[in-house]
Amino acid sequence: MTVRAAKNLVPETPVTDLDGLRAKVTRVEALLTAAYGARVWQAGNYSDDLVGGLVATVLSQNTSDLNSGRAYASLKAAFPGGWDDVRTANVSRVADAIKSGGLANVKAPRIQAILSDIFEHSGHTGLDHLRTWDDAATVAYLRTLPGVGPKTAACILMFNLGRPVLAVDTHVHRVSQRLGLIGPKVGPDAAHDRLQELVADDQVYSYHVHFIEHGRRVCHSQRPACGVCPLQKECDFFRALPVPLQSAPD
Ligand code: SF4
Repeated sequence: MTVRAAKNLVPETPVTDLDGLRAKVTRVEALLTAAYGARVWQAGNYSDDLVGGLVATVLSQNTSDLNSGRAYASLKAAFPGGWDDVRTANVSRVADAIKSGGLANVKAPRIQAILSDIFEHSGHTGLDHLRTWDDAATVAYLRTLPGVGPKTAACILMFNLGRPVLAVDTHVHRVSQRLGLIGPKVGPDAAHDRLQELVADDQVYSYHVHFIEHGRRVCHSQRPACGVCPLQKECDFFRALPVPLQSAPD
């Protein structure tokens, strides 16, 4: 049996022991801090421009950070007049400006739809009013925007507004699930609420960044390198592996 074939062996973790799971989060965070270093929140690249942060998040979907960064810079260069010009431009001009990020024909109309919704809601193409809203109202509003799901909304709050709202991407979801912090049937969207209950406010940013790093470096989707993982003792997936696979490097 391979590590990949063993993935269905993860037991259902009782989700009622919240204190136990919170303690586990704290132990895991300590182990990941020892492995990768402390991660302290820093203002995101677009903290002074919440619309920019939202556009950048849309551009980051299904592509690399490098490509989405290029697409964002190209969009800003093509429309120096600001987001109103992007909102009212011919969609083909927007698509052309962001083509280096991929899926331009999907993302250009999505960006314009978001900008139009923002304009219709607030009378201008800005989101600074969100700075005075509470977390729940801000998430609820952002999720009304076209194509904005729980992850994108949480990214805006966490990275751009500095709020302790956990964003759950594919790595955070997978590693959390293997550790047994969420059950095997909890999908990425539902995971936001479950994990938010377990992760303390001052752990949210670090948890997000650490889990992404661990998912990329060690706890890969297809062939997790369990043999070299510092989280073995905390991991339901690892405990369910046949003994010969527990020492396999990947
Ligand atoms: S032991 Fe580590 S690498 Fe293996 S599944 Fe658990 S967290 Fe992932």
